[in-house]
Amino acid sequence: MEERMKFPEEGVSREELERYINPGDNYSPRAGEGVFLGYPQSAPHPIAAEVYKNYVPFNENHVGMFSNCTTNMNITRTMEKQLIEMLGGLYGNPTVDGYVTSGGTEGNIMGVWIGKSYLERKHGSDICLLRTCLTHQSIEKASNMCGIKNRVEIPMNDEYQIDVVEFEKQIRSLLSEGKNRFLLIATVGYTMTGTMDSIREMNEVLLKLKRTEKFELYCHVDAAIGGLVYPFIESDDFGFQFTFVNSISVDPHKMGYIPYAAGVFMCRRGLQDYIAVPIKYAREIMDKTLISSRNGAAAAACWVTFQHLGKTGFQNRLKALVKMKQYMIERLLEDDSIMVISNPPTNMVCVHFNFMKEELLPKWIEHKYILDAFKLTYKGSDTLCYKMYIMPHVTEESIDEFVTDVRRVKEIIYEESIH
Ligand SMILES: *Cc1c(COP(=O)(O)O)cnc(C)c1O
Repeated sequence: MEERMKFPEEGVSREELERYINPGDNYSPRAGEGVFLGYPQSAPHPIAAEVYKNYVPFNENHVGMFSNCTTNMNITRTMEKQLIEMLGGLYGNPTVDGYVTSGGTEGNIMGVWIGKSYLERKHGSDICLLRTCLTHQSIEKASNMCGIKNRVEIPMNDEYQIDVVEFEKQIRSLLSEGKNRFLLIATVGYTMTGTMDSIREMNEVLLKLKRTEKFELYCHVDAAIGGLVYPFIESDDFGFQFTFVNSISVDPHKMGYIPYAAGVFMCRRGLQDYIAVPIKYAREIMDKTLISSRNGAAAAACWVTFQHLGKTGFQNRLKALVKMKQYMIERLLEDDSIMVISNPPTNMVCVHFNFMKEELLPKWIEHKYILDAFKLTYKGSDTLCYKMYIMPHVTEESIDEFVTDVRRVKEIIYEESIH
């Protein structure tokens, strides 16, 4: 039987724990050699790790919310307030409310929870959640938690965005069924394709519909990945400058180069009141967040890193990553049985390996590069593909190694086929 770790009767000396206290060379990200390609995960920016380390010993508890707060606050809470201003400004409105979350999932739960409460309290129940087949599963979680049963899929176009023509049709058809309360989830940086919904085009559709139809809509934008990518490349706006956008969730622990766990939820001022509960042990204070206690170090790490990088810092890092991605695509496309299925103007790419058995890379390659296959509709049929995120640790050498590994497998398959 497997030996289970026991809670020790007596404490263990510091010396015996040394290699756990200081992982140093003992630490390997995972068993086996290889490079992380499948997820937007990398070593954080050194300055972010340094700030984290410096603030953790103070263990400042950021319970509550500090955006738009006018009372005197300590340094980390002030940084959290200013972080919301910085990001709010980046997304079209520096006066929004918000707080530092544990990540994209919490931000999405907040969006759905507030959206549901808002629509119900103002307009009655029978809410219809609108999303696409590529919407992140945290929205599924949030809908389960909030008891939203009515979930409708909006078809996507060939660029893996919400198809705005279908979007309009969908809303008209739901209106004709008597549904008129919509909780819309738009995505800026779909995890599987890197693409973003056109908030601008959806805005036009909604303005047009509003002229003749009567309905209520709450829109939450899941910008977990794209929120710290798209503002730094030439692209459409997606933020609070569009009046129908109510809340945005972004993940600094992905493309913001911050250690886990760091997310940011933002919404129009006052919207968090819809989910507020009184704090029993603090008279007259309401809790307007999902998690309660959380470490102020995350806010400090974001604040310093974003100040340090600035827009040009983010742009330059992204340019280097996109250049590296171009190199990878060039190397992959030397083989014409490899197909690039989605190539957004970001540091991600989605690839299909035609020659592989059942279109799947062998397990050892999947493990070596932390790649997971998924089904994507491509030109009308189901296609298995792999998403790859080019993060700062990815080098030309690691890409060459990946390409060599893939070629080796192809040769073996070819050998087997002629024997
Ligand atoms: C990663 C991701 C999330 C979830 O974020 P966590 O930080 O893992 O909770 C939500 N939406 C999208 C689009 C994501 O890529």
